Amino acid sequence: MNSKLPDSAPRSPIIPVQLRLDDKFRFRCHKGIACFNKCCENIDIMLTPYDIVRLKHRLGVTSREFIDLYTVDFQMDGHGTPGLKLRTKENSTACINLTPEGCGVYEDRPAACRYYALGLVSMRKKDAPRDEDSYFIVREEHCLGHLEPVVQTVCDYRKEQGVDLYDEINHEWRQIILKKRSSGPTVGRPSERSFELFFLASYDPDGFREFVASPGFGEVFDLDPSFKQGLMADEVQLLRFGFRLLRQVLFGEKSIPLKPGAAQMRIARYQQRMAQLSTGRAEDLADAQDKIYETLGD
Ligand code: SF4
Ligand code: SF4
Repeated sequence: MNSKLPDSAPRSPIIPVQLRLDDKFRFRCHKGIACFNKCCENIDIMLTPYDIVRLKHRLGVTSREFIDLYTVDFQMDGHGTPGLKLRTKENSTACINLTPEGCGVYEDRPAACRYYALGLVSMRKKDAPRDEDSYFIVREEHCLGHLEPVVQTVCDYRKEQGVDLYDEINHEWRQIILKKRSSGPTVGRPSERSFELFFLASYDPDGFREFVASPGFGEVFDLDPSFKQGLMADEVQLLRFGFRLLRQVLFGEKSIPLKPGAAQMRIARYQQRMAQLSTGRAEDLADAQDKIYETLGD
């Protein structure tokens, strides 16, 4: 089973036909099928933030424990944007969650597993404000589901698999990845610190909750107390807030108010330093953002 990055180009065994939501395709997977479990015996599954929220609860572990025990790192792009893939069993290509009875986390399986045998491609045309989704069929030889006499629209399949909820929650995150790739030199290569923040906000909700609750964060960002309380209690809300913070740090989109006193003094101090370096270079701006970020943990 292969998951695709949001803008990855189709390649074999992918059928190079773009499907839209109303397009129909033939496929059905069920427990009695002869190939049952085959797709989980050789996996390459990229995880999204909401996958991790669901799986860590399912498995009864913290997000840090989930990362350590159930994932492997990879880089999503040439800049080194951190990604996580689902781990396989030791000395095997089979998914760590696979049991003889089937998926051990079925109700909370990742979005990529829900999509299969469809793949999702998100692309943003030049100068377009938003990306466009389309779908493609993954036809692997071992998968007999393509021979089953069931035809459905992409839209119905997504609903049946519950992947529409995953896409809705992960949407902003995918937008960030696409924007970062399409921005090129105007944003520049994100610094190590912004990658750390990306990792924390994307994959480690327990660590990110502690970060938002920390005194350093409270000194810089001006959050309404009831809003902050909501973040502490609701991981989906916390994820969405993390995506806003990432947009602020990576792209300078100021949607989270800063406290006028402490934060602005710090920002002015660092801006002054950066101006002295006679820059304007994107790396320097990223460094300046890092310095601001570093102070949050003071
Ligand atoms: S999480 Fe479940 S459905 Fe997905 S690859 Fe693993 S065993 Fe298969
Ligand atoms: S039909 Fe395809 S998706 Fe379903 S169990 Fe078989 S190989 Fe996996």
